[in-house]
Amino acid sequence: MRLHILGAGTPYADAGRFGSSYILEVGGERIMFDCGPGTTYKMARMGLRTTDVDHLLFTHHHFDHDVDYPCFLLARWNESIGDENPLQVIGPNLTELISHRLMDEHEGAFAHDWIARINHPLSLHWYVGRGGKLPRPPLSVNARDVVPGPVHSGNGWEITAAPAEHVEPWLDSLAYRLDSEEGSVVVTGDTRPCDSVEQLARGADVMVCMCVYVQEDVDGTPDAEYMSGSLAAARMAEAAGVRKLVLVHQSHTLDAPGQTERALADISSAYSGQVVWGRELVTIDL
Ligand SMILES: [Zn+2]
Repeated sequence: MRLHILGAGTPYADAGRFGSSYILEVGGERIMFDCGPGTTYKMARMGLRTTDVDHLLFTHHHFDHDVDYPCFLLARWNESIGDENPLQVIGPNLTELISHRLMDEHEGAFAHDWIARINHPLSLHWYVGRGGKLPRPPLSVNARDVVPGPVHSGNGWEITAAPAEHVEPWLDSLAYRLDSEEGSVVVTGDTRPCDSVEQLARGADVMVCMCVYVQEDVDGTPDAEYMSGSLAAARMAEAAGVRKLVLVHQSHTLDAPGQTERALADISSAYSGQVVWGRELVTIDL
């Protein structure tokens, strides 16, 4: 398995970190978790094609996790010539509604784009030039709202969701666990340490977990109450017994001199497995 880190940041637009997105390669397939700011462009920078991703799972619908969704949908559809697998989109409540509001023929905010492209000779010329056959199919989105439990499967892998705890009741959040013959990976999404995510991650090979701040800098604040800082991530990984902890969703302030070292010192004090400090545009062999 390999993990491509496209977004390892927060809602703050920093040059080195902005939003969340990861692509996991398993069973010869590519599965995207979240589609935060700039994801499609960052894929291109990493040599990844949109049409190679057939599965997209959202952890929740804060913009740092989903705002590049229309761009990804349009780019993937525009680069398709009709013989690709349909994209499967899965997420908590709002996933179907957002998909509808973006691309529905009558009500979609971006439907004007694909409607023009399936009709105008300029777009059809380029479509046929790429190998597409007319008539050009419309953009349709296969999106599903899911609840905790088994939610998806593919070539030798299956994914289970569990509730995460972040900003309920305004937004529901899910953590995901993928199990396969190649190993098991948990993507926590944004969450404070909680029993449901710890249970989901029990004995997993890898946990991709948010580490937004150095713990002592935020203890006693809402930052510590509704998210996971350095010690919180480490303790949850240790309690779950995961083999490798990949830290993501870091504040850009953690890139300041000495801050990454403080976070890593926290983590190694509370977690005995392997630690990977996630950075954008980096691929990790799991
Ligand atoms: Zn977030």
